[in-house]
Amino acid sequence: MHSSIALVLSATLTASLGFAADKKSDPSQIGNRDVGKGLNFYSIEKEIALGKQLAQEVARQAKLLDDPIIGEYVNRVGQNLVRNSDARFAFQFQVIDDDTPNAFALPGGFVFVNTGLIKIADEEDEFAAAVAHEIAHVAARHMTRQATKAQLASMLNMPASVILGGGWGGYAGRQAMGLAMPTMFMKFSRGDESEADYLGVQYMYAAGYDPTGAISIFEKLESLQRKSPGFVDRMLSSHPLDADRIKRTEKEIDEILPSKGEYVVTTSEYRDMRERLIDMQAGRKSTPGNGGPKLKSAPRTSPTVRDEDPPTVRRRGLTE
Ligand SMILES: [Zn+2]
Repeated sequence: MHSSIALVLSATLTASLGFAADKKSDPSQIGNRDVGKGLNFYSIEKEIALGKQLAQEVARQAKLLDDPIIGEYVNRVGQNLVRNSDARFAFQFQVIDDDTPNAFALPGGFVFVNTGLIKIADEEDEFAAAVAHEIAHVAARHMTRQATKAQLASMLNMPASVILGGGWGGYAGRQAMGLAMPTMFMKFSRGDESEADYLGVQYMYAAGYDPTGAISIFEKLESLQRKSPGFVDRMLSSHPLDADRIKRTEKEIDEILPSKGEYVVTTSEYRDMRERLIDMQAGRKSTPGNGGPKLKSAPRTSPTVRDEDPPTVRRRGLTE
């Protein structure tokens, strides 16, 4: 019994290492590539049910932003990216009233975006980059594949009778109800992180955005981390920023994304939505900026450098 499980495991690892790299590097194939394949104890239905349960838990514990205009816009940007992704789930996007620049996805397509992410992303393409990264984690089913690996590892150390008694599905099902699951689903391997970056940039590009928005949001997070290390820790603990992340993304843009004539950098609707959020929060707090770092916001009247030119790709300009 043990050796057959080990065989399944090694066969799966071999298969995942030898994935069809060509298709995954071809944005014209988005939707026709099975990016979520790999050993998984969770059926699509089970994954959605689990995500729904976890999303309800998040909604109970976090403070959701109650603003239909911001909620609608975030959902619209999100759904447009989903349509340009490999994901096979129906997505739901919700906004959490929290100044930490973070976003996270639960299994099955439940994405949460913090207000802090909207505030740090001056332009829509930067915001879209972070959301596309989360969509990619869901599309590749990183959470349930990771959980499957963890369960398999623990099964290898179990007597065969326990495994046979419950069956694969039964065992996975019981584990899914455990309280330790949410953190288990939020920890990604370095490989999963790079894959989410790699796929996410393709999705934002396919949706029409300037893919260099991904680089500029990484740079903003990096500089914020230098200025106030504790502030971005939560974001980075689930999505670690390593030194090569920006370089790898630049290389990806150069090598696999054919140049387009025009890209969406930002929209007036995004700016209005963001201004609304900032005004809303300024009106609410009597002492703004207390404790946390000041997030720079682009004034409505003075466009940023990237906005002065037609929205074309600026691969080199961003790294100056
Ligand atoms: Zn991530």
